Amino acid sequence: MQKNIVIVGAGFAGLYTAKYLEKRLKLLKSKKIEASIALIDQNNYFTFTPLLHEVASGGLERELILHPIREAFGTGVSFINSKVERVHLGKNFVMTSDKIQLPYDYLVLATGSVSSLKYDVLNTEIFKLKTVNDAYNIKSAILTVFERKQNSLLNPPIKVVIVGGGPTGVELVAELAEYMHGTLARLYKHVGPGQNQILLLNSAGHLLGSFDKRLGERIEKYLVQKLNVKVINNSKIISIEDFVIKSSNGEIRGADVIIDASGVRAMYPDLIPAIDTDEKNNIITDDFLRIPEYPNVYALGDVGQFYKLAQTAVNQAEYAAKSIVNLMLNKQPKQYTFKPKGFLLSLGKNYAIGSLFNVLIFGKPVWFLWRTIYLFKVLNSRHRIKIALNWTLNLFSDRDTTNI
Ligand SMILES: Cc1cc2nc3c(=O)[nH]c(=O)nc-3n(C[C@H](O)[C@H](O)[C@H](O)COP(=O)(O)OP(=O)(O)OC[C@H]3O[C@@H](n4cnc5c(N)ncnc54)[C@H](O)[C@@H]3O)c2cc1C
Repeated sequence: MQKNIVIVGAGFAGLYTAKYLEKRLKLLKSKKIEASIALIDQNNYFTFTPLLHEVASGGLERELILHPIREAFGTGVSFINSKVERVHLGKNFVMTSDKIQLPYDYLVLATGSVSSLKYDVLNTEIFKLKTVNDAYNIKSAILTVFERKQNSLLNPPIKVVIVGGGPTGVELVAELAEYMHGTLARLYKHVGPGQNQILLLNSAGHLLGSFDKRLGERIEKYLVQKLNVKVINNSKIISIEDFVIKSSNGEIRGADVIIDASGVRAMYPDLIPAIDTDEKNNIITDDFLRIPEYPNVYALGDVGQFYKLAQTAVNQAEYAAKSIVNLMLNKQPKQYTFKPKGFLLSLGKNYAIGSLFNVLIFGKPVWFLWRTIYLFKVLNSRHRIKIALNWTLNLFSDRDTTNI
């Protein structure tokens, strides 16, 4: 009898689960497993998040980091472009906003996460960096302020504040610092010449608070000395009201653009029966990445309790695909284990830093390594070529300043 596999969310976890399942099921045709794979996403594109900060700072056009979901598969996966509103865990079906009802034998929940603010906000627009539209909105907000101040008689300087000294905040502040102090300073010569500020507020005692202190200190030194960023550690935000940022170590006034990169929390459809979650809203799973009360339901990627990283999501996708196929073959799946090999962060043009197999690495060669690794991870080969071309051009020319 045919088994129905339904995957909700086509991000790193969901899309790769579908890819791995399609591949495995093709190989197993001879064993006569009949299965259908339905992948559902509210968007019809996959977002390559590791390059979002380059869209926010005019380095890459937004389309280049997107990939049409339909083009990621052969005929083994049916894609449904719709939002899942209701998950009937006990009754084994999901319902979309278009009232499509999809029964399943195996369900993969991979709906990712959303930005979460941990402080009160009043009368202030706070930008975030989670989607391609968020990235574009940041670029647009900064360009709008430069344009406005260029036409003002006093030409006051610009102040951009980023909240969050984790990987996203650090990569974004580096790119924006280059954009503001480079391309935009040349184009808008009269705007606060030499006085424009970019600040990074970090709640921990050093950047990348949950990692090795040496790494955070080295990043801070590079940001301050080479990119002219002001880093304020031990700055826990209490509230932001009328663009005044109140934090544990004082107040910051006069911010023109405020961006929050302080964290994300798991997100899943509202209409789901009560499931166990931890204090951060992450779904609690068993040793096989399944929801304990519902052993035919997997929770992968950012909705779960593991490191919220693309590499974790892809690793879990491969595990879940293998596991589901094993269950269909009446074999017991193995327990899930994963240890990230390390990570790399780019700090603007020419410098990257990271840790590989617990060894601290940094400098220009690491930056080349970062670019090569990420380039090969971009799904769309056409976009891969265009990104490589863009990156090469960016070495010799200014970034894009179009504000649509
Ligand atoms: C700016 C930024 C930079 C990052 N850089 C890196 C990096 O360099 N390296 C790294 O390893 N990780 C990085 N990450 C983290 C990485 O992006 C996430 O860990 C990863 O995307 C998690 O994958 P996921 O599939 O769980 O969620 P996502 O990739 O977010 O995918 C979730 C999908 O579910 C869909 N969805 C949600 N709700 C519904 C619904 N109700 N119905 C239908 N569809 C739905 C969404 O549209 C989305 O397509 C970065 C994240 C950000 C924000």
